[in-house]
Amino acid sequence: MEKGGNLNMKKVIIAEKPSVAKNIADAFNIKMRKDGYFQGEDYIITWAFGHLLQLYDAKDYDENMKSWRMDKFPFIPEKFKYKVKCNSTNRAAIDFGAEKQINIIKSLIERDDVDEIILATDYDREGQVIGDELLLYLNVKKPIFRILLNEWTEEELKKGMADLKPNEEMKSLQDAGISRQWSDWIIGINLTSAATLRYNPGDKKILNIGRVLLPTLKIIYDRDKEIENFKASTYYKLAATFKTKNGEEFEGTYYENDNEKFDDKEILENISKLLKDKNAEIIEKQVEKKKDYAPLLFNLSGLQGYITSKYKGWTSDKVLKTAQVLYEKKFTTYPRTGSVALDESLKEKTKKVLDVIKKGLPYESQIQFIDNKRIFDNSKVESHSAIVPTYIKASGLNADEETVYNAIKNRFIMQFLPVSVYEETKLVSKISGETVKGVFISKGKVQLAVGWHIVEKSETKDNILPMVSEKDITEVIGSTVNEVTKKPPKLHNEKTLLRVMETCGRSYKDEEDTDAMMASILSGFSIGTPATRAETIKKLKDASYIIAKGKSLTCTELGKTLVEIFPARELLDLEYTGRLEKTLSDIEKAKFKKAEFLDMIKEFTVNAVDSIKKDTSMLKNFKAELPEGAEAIGVCPICGNPVIENEKGFGCTNWKNGCDYTIWKNDKFITSLGKSVTKLMVELLLKNGKVGFRNIKSKKGTTYSAYLRYVRDDKTGHYKWEMEFIS
Ligand SMILES: [Zn+2]
Repeated sequence: MEKGGNLNMKKVIIAEKPSVAKNIADAFNIKMRKDGYFQGEDYIITWAFGHLLQLYDAKDYDENMKSWRMDKFPFIPEKFKYKVKCNSTNRAAIDFGAEKQINIIKSLIERDDVDEIILATDYDREGQVIGDELLLYLNVKKPIFRILLNEWTEEELKKGMADLKPNEEMKSLQDAGISRQWSDWIIGINLTSAATLRYNPGDKKILNIGRVLLPTLKIIYDRDKEIENFKASTYYKLAATFKTKNGEEFEGTYYENDNEKFDDKEILENISKLLKDKNAEIIEKQVEKKKDYAPLLFNLSGLQGYITSKYKGWTSDKVLKTAQVLYEKKFTTYPRTGSVALDESLKEKTKKVLDVIKKGLPYESQIQFIDNKRIFDNSKVESHSAIVPTYIKASGLNADEETVYNAIKNRFIMQFLPVSVYEETKLVSKISGETVKGVFISKGKVQLAVGWHIVEKSETKDNILPMVSEKDITEVIGSTVNEVTKKPPKLHNEKTLLRVMETCGRSYKDEEDTDAMMASILSGFSIGTPATRAETIKKLKDASYIIAKGKSLTCTELGKTLVEIFPARELLDLEYTGRLEKTLSDIEKAKFKKAEFLDMIKEFTVNAVDSIKKDTSMLKNFKAELPEGAEAIGVCPICGNPVIENEKGFGCTNWKNGCDYTIWKNDKFITSLGKSVTKLMVELLLKNGKVGFRNIKSKKGTTYSAYLRYVRDDKTGHYKWEMEFIS
């Protein structure tokens, strides 16, 4: 190769994962694989393994942080720094694979024949940070570009390469990603450490506290409580059977003033008696054709909810991982999306995909491309469209991949099948004469056109009413009063939990409010993001805060206690957490400043650590051992453990767990009264809650008697003496 001059200049493409790098290499027909990269004429394609770097641990900033002590928190570094990520099984060692890959990337970027870098990490906050943290760490000075894709097929890749963006234009996405990363570090490290030191220090178990973790736990806790507090109640309904002239029978439910639920059984029993040998007249018949539209395309939580509730043994985490594999295999589009519609620019492409996907299906002839707002709607798309198949026909899938792929494919196809149509009939029967005040209502439903239901056949229960007309007379041939017991709400499962996280606990009546709901979801007002929710649920299980009972999720004793005692209540408030998440989303849209957000997080953390330090609610759960040879003088009023004498005072044996109940021998207040702290005095104080002193000298020189109490100020955490005069 000549020096200088005619070097064939190349671009280094950095993918988020090896599998994606392979897709890119395939698209450009690059076959030469070297150690850690593919080498082509114009492109060198290398990869990360997700994050290759991680933020410094507290002890990397400050040696003193190695010993874990309450007085060292809150700890907030002035400037955040990155290091090669740790080995996932041995946190003391670095990940040598990551280090090696960083060095490969560095040497590629520094090559003389490389003049540009192209970041091909995923088009989202995390992908942006994975790329940017690495390039900042390597102090890259060459121009950096960004490719932004929704799928890794050859066609899209080539389009994307022709439409690169300067990486500077991604600043707000980077800010949002970094804000997320740093704020989770600040909150996670400080609150996890403070809470563990305060509430769980004897036990080695770490009490994991996080920005998204706690509100999610609270959602599950609230449902548990709702069930616990549920009071079973019953109501009654009256059903009558009618017979037409032709001998056909149908049933109706008794209504008075639009209500069919009665608290008083007797009222209905009396009406039931009146029905004997009566006729009824059909006073109203309504027949309505109703359309049943296919459910909207999947966003991630929709897909997770669908799979976890339909199939056994699936978690949302597993659904995301499988969807991620399908995306990396080029069979489906980007999975971590909140959108349930497609960008309007995708119409032509979608038509093409549909042509490939529908081939060979038994109902192929019914599938037809249509363009409507339920499918294509820019107002319902943010960065990424809904999850759909690509034009590449999936092959070689394992059983799990097949399950997820078919769900995505079927949901896609449903959009292009006819609407399902059914006929709903409503009959209103009035008992002849004036004895019965209310009416009987019967409803029938008949499916007229299967439409999209053909894709996933579900048992539709047609309820057919006989052919009758208004004014027809029928005969009442029977009636029963039925007791109905109101059921308690069900435990959350992953599907219902994801829905609450996605909507931040606001309820929307399905179809009619879809627009409002989607607007809220896309504004970012939610608990976590599509990308993080599955992991949050998994973390809650790993931390033993919740357990799964079949598909249901419920709090453990630990999780329940944590929700009840955790003093930084904002973290348990869905509105508060929703606003934080929305702020991150606003940073991404350049509507909010990173620095301001981080200041907010720092202030919250400082206050939260302070409130944990002052909290004593959990100390009672710990039993401290009486040290050998020590004598218990009494019981600690804060935590119930023995108080013993030591050199400088009388203190609680539970100090290791954070109980700081101590009466110092040189207590200033007691000495100022001319008294001293003795063993007998402490013994009486602990036994009676107060201790009396006689002959206390006042400043005026008179003497008086008083009881003294030693009390803890819950706000400051300090102890002080309270005096009660004895007259
Ligand atoms: Zn104590």
